[in-house]
Amino acid sequence: MHVDVLAELVNSLPPGVVVTSPDAMDKYREDFARDGSAGKPVAVVRAETADQVQQAVRWAAAHRVPVVPRGAGTGLSGGSSAVDGGITISLERMRHIEIDPACQVAIVEPGALNAEVKEAAGEHGLWYPPDPSSFEICSIGGNLATNAGGLCCVKYGVTVDYVLGMDVVLADGRLVTLGGKQIKDVAGLSLLKLFVGSEGTLGIITRATLRLIPAQAARATLVASFPTMTAASSAVVAIRGRVRASMLELMDNASINAVEDWRPHGLDRAIGALLIAQSDAPEPASEAEIEIMRRCCEDAGSDEAFSTTDPETAAMFVAARRNAFLALEHRGSLLFEDVGVPVPLLPKLVEGVAAIAARHQIEIPVVAHAGDGNTHPIIVYDAADGGAQLRARQAFDELLDLAIELGGTITGEHGVGRAKKRALPDQLGPDVMDLTRRVKLALDPDGILNPGAIL
Ligand SMILES: Cc1cc2nc3c(=O)[nH]c(=O)nc-3n(C[C@H](O)[C@H](O)[C@H](O)COP(=O)(O)OP(=O)(O)OC[C@H]3O[C@@H](n4cnc5c(N)ncnc54)[C@H](O)[C@@H]3O)c2cc1C
Repeated sequence: MHVDVLAELVNSLPPGVVVTSPDAMDKYREDFARDGSAGKPVAVVRAETADQVQQAVRWAAAHRVPVVPRGAGTGLSGGSSAVDGGITISLERMRHIEIDPACQVAIVEPGALNAEVKEAAGEHGLWYPPDPSSFEICSIGGNLATNAGGLCCVKYGVTVDYVLGMDVVLADGRLVTLGGKQIKDVAGLSLLKLFVGSEGTLGIITRATLRLIPAQAARATLVASFPTMTAASSAVVAIRGRVRASMLELMDNASINAVEDWRPHGLDRAIGALLIAQSDAPEPASEAEIEIMRRCCEDAGSDEAFSTTDPETAAMFVAARRNAFLALEHRGSLLFEDVGVPVPLLPKLVEGVAAIAARHQIEIPVVAHAGDGNTHPIIVYDAADGGAQLRARQAFDELLDLAIELGGTITGEHGVGRAKKRALPDQLGPDVMDLTRRVKLALDPDGILNPGAIL
């Protein structure tokens, strides 16, 4: 890029907003997927206002420069990987949060962390439910752009269920406001929801109005161990048929051991699978729900189950589950899967994962938001071993194919990004892919927004 063109961007924004030194830009190149093919941007715009985002996008549109929006970079599918010759617009400095208790909404800038929104809502006795395991380190903008899920989503739904309004900067630099504080609003096409989960390919979210609900009630927790993941998943299917649990999470033996190796949480290393289930129904209904869940576990062959209402004991098990990805990072290079199936097919999915692992002689620990039928098989391999790398890639592709064969999805919550786009046409088919491309073309005719992601 000609130096004068870049200087135009640098000079149009306040000092310090545009970063161009390779060292300073390095941390903006990859997300948690550690995408080896991430490019080198010509600049990172660390925007402080929506107006600055607009300025940067107008400049990019005029010079046909690729733009990668970036939140906290915790994505697991290479969605915010930098593009060669492009700019990355980081929203990390736009963090203002305002709570309107009368309307029960939070008006939030995209860089605010999920945990910060929860905390601000909590000060008013309110709750923002979507809770990705990464909630302490990921941004609301990234959550909206990926339609993030989490642990309590089995009862409370995912990010899209809590979005009432958004400001979005379009590919030509215009800013549109969609929705608002009103709970019901069907004026016009449902454009608001079109941007949720669009992974930065249709526009840049600069503000969101999020629905809040009254704080969650105390939770009762059931922890059950099983000899196999198949037995544990059968218990999940049975529970889903009888109780509206507020959490149904699974860990397999390999992920339990990875967590224990990294930071001991007191989990039993010998068990085949661990189910962490919760009920937040008011007492005594919670006791009844826990009892039903316990019976479902026994019927499915659990070795042991115990329940607790002690928040600290429960928090220890939930933290172990949340920490699985971070623990596995210490075992080798990782390929993150996020495949999901209709809940009754969960046992078939976990059996299929085990068969792929055995066939390729590769370790694939599994954790799961099991109540949603959403699993995270995580392929662990040695990047220095070419053969292992090849087997890992083959296993990755086969897992995507398996989910599609079972009538499920290649991604339940992490997004397609750059990692899973090969398999997207296999899931969506030619007509839906064509529709997707036409939507992209209508909103971003020059293809400057996050090129290479999703499509
Ligand atoms: C330990 C760990 C646990 C995790 N657990 C979960 C989980 O339980 N559930 C879950 O859903 N995810 C989980 N994730 C994945 C990740 O945290 C989520 O995808 C999260 O929503 C990404 O947010 P971010 O701010 O890091 O976004 P980034 O990684 O920076 O970006 C993600 C995508 O959003 C786009 N984007 C970001 N901000 C904007 C914006 N303002 N406007 C337009 N596009 C934007 C980017 O271009 C990219 O395509 C986990 C990740 C880790 C590391």
